[in-house]
Amino acid sequence: MDWLTHVLWYDGRFLGIEWHAWKVVGWIGNLTFFSRFLVQWYATEKQKRVVVPTTFWWLSLLGSSLLFSYALFHQRDSVFIFAYAFTWIPYVRNLVIHHRTVAASRPCARCGSLCPPQARFCAQCGAAAPAATG
Ligand SMILES: [Zn+2]
Repeated sequence: MDWLTHVLWYDGRFLGIEWHAWKVVGWIGNLTFFSRFLVQWYATEKQKRVVVPTTFWWLSLLGSSLLFSYALFHQRDSVFIFAYAFTWIPYVRNLVIHHRTVAASRPCARCGSLCPPQARFCAQCGAAAPAATG
């Protein structure tokens, strides 16, 4: 177990990292951004098809915002700043599209699950989807 102590507490610091407030913000951003892959992978495995859950976009937005803050206020590195300056646009756009789709969805007459406006059949029970309005 001496090797573990050496890995965790290296060079007199936890993980050998010089910790301060911005370093914590950056690492929380990294972990948040990375966690979206686990969320998307889990959702895909669970449904046995490629799925991008809403949580993925929220984690993308939060993680990239934290990393952008770290880059802008601490690193002050133009490459790092540019890498995260515009990533929020597709994340927010996908959240807006998702919100609109949910708002326009209609309940299935047979099972009650929500059918997206373009659906012809209910994905849960196979019944004909309710007709789109408007
Ligand atoms: Zn149904």
